[in-house]
Amino acid sequence: MNIHEYQAKALLASYGAPVSDGRAVLKAEDAKTAAGEMDGPLWVVKAQIHAGGRGKGKFKEADAGDAGGVRLTKSVAEAAEEAKKMLGRTLVTHQTGPVGKQVNRVYIEDGSGIETEMYLALLVDRQTSRIGFVVSTEGGMDIEEVAENTPEKILNFTVDPATGYQAYHGRRVAFALGLKGAQVKQCVQLMGQLYKAFTEKDMEMLEINPLIITDEGSLKVLDAKVAFDGNAVYRHADIAALRDETEEDPKELAASKFDLNYIALDGEIGCMVNGAGLAMATMDIIKLYGAEPANFLDVGGGATKEKVTEAFKIITSDPNVKGILVNIFGGIMRCDVIAEGVVSAVKEVGLQVPLVVRLEGTNVEEGKAIINNSDVDVIAADDLSDGAEKIVKAVKG
Ligand code: GDP
Ligand code: MN
Repeated sequence: MNIHEYQAKALLASYGAPVSDGRAVLKAEDAKTAAGEMDGPLWVVKAQIHAGGRGKGKFKEADAGDAGGVRLTKSVAEAAEEAKKMLGRTLVTHQTGPVGKQVNRVYIEDGSGIETEMYLALLVDRQTSRIGFVVSTEGGMDIEEVAENTPEKILNFTVDPATGYQAYHGRRVAFALGLKGAQVKQCVQLMGQLYKAFTEKDMEMLEINPLIITDEGSLKVLDAKVAFDGNAVYRHADIAALRDETEEDPKELAASKFDLNYIALDGEIGCMVNGAGLAMATMDIIKLYGAEPANFLDVGGGATKEKVTEAFKIITSDPNVKGILVNIFGGIMRCDVIAEGVVSAVKEVGLQVPLVVRLEGTNVEEGKAIINNSDVDVIAADDLSDGAEKIVKAVKG
């Protein structure tokens, strides 16, 4: 689960991390008052969307102006004006994809004088099963680019969970960033605060790009991107309350309400599969036969007819879907339940595109009979390759 920058900063500030004063604004008419509560001389107006690269982004609408989603302004009036230009407009960044994201709120921040921009992230390092620090002096820019061109400028440390965060971890970060004197001490403290926030709130990733040295020589969190472990959000009512459903893909949101593992992709073949491994294999084989999957969908082991119907509705609601491949290996999940779900869903939502069904495993004969005895227009497949070949052929001719 992701949250907005201003929410992340408020959370980190509650752990003692240094952030700028700021106000979130939803309506253009509130921008002037919000900006007026800060002294200046610099006001930064920042689009709040769940995507990075805002500064270098571009708005779709001409009346939003040529600047990106992070604007430095020199007066309250100018800040209010820029806020008004951004609100309700669509920002496209390298992380939003070409459709972009609508800006429903902006954050007006007391601007900082910057001496140095650095990069810092905490994440769950799957290789070592530890929490890792990723540090670079090359802050404020695309870290993927730094990783590609100058990987030696990115340093990694991990923290042994048995000891937890220790001052020496913070000193390693400080030395990697070339900090001196009082900044080292401040870094040790800040890293401890970030580590505490990360572990206590079950974060998956915390990225601060840039972490800055201000013109007064102290460290400050200038941008913050936080992702929480979705499976742990139930433990944190305060975090769950920060969820902004308008930022999520409506299909993924609907799927999450029915406990379906669904991820929207941009291909043309909708897939309904049970088991994550089989879902991955199905996506691979669709590609092998020359098409692209429109989604990842694992209906899970204990899917009911209702859940299958819902899954089918979500798949067909995607206008990119030109064909559907149902690939079920019935173990715990019974083929007849899937078949009933498919038939009832098709009847409910109608079927405008070709449908290939491959069933195997528990109650496969009953499942096939349900489909054959219905008047649903289905192409039957015998195995994974056969299913993929048939759906790609049906879609591409
Ligand atoms: P992103 O583009 O989505 O990563 O948004 P950031 O919050 O990282 O802002 C992008 C860039 O805007 C930063 O790297 C800074 O160079 C600049 N910026 C943001 N806030 C301030 C500020 O308070 N003062 C100054 N001088 N520059 C800022
Ligand atoms: Mn940034």
